[in-house]
Amino acid sequence: MAVPKKKMSRSRTRSRKAAWKVHAPRPVACERCGQPKLPHRACRECGTYAGREVIETE
Ligand SMILES: [Zn+2]
Repeated sequence: MAVPKKKMSRSRTRSRKAAWKVHAPRPVACERCGQPKLPHRACRECGTYAGREVIETE
């Protein structure tokens, strides 16, 4: 198992944690209907993912 060779300083740990920020996923436009959708998710409006229909819509 990998073990750290030196103790990491408090400021180094805290500066690394300060650089990592949570951000909301940026909505992208659906390539078929143009509605905003989340990336890497099927479109809720037309039910397509990567150009083919994957979920049923009414
Ligand atoms: Zn769509």
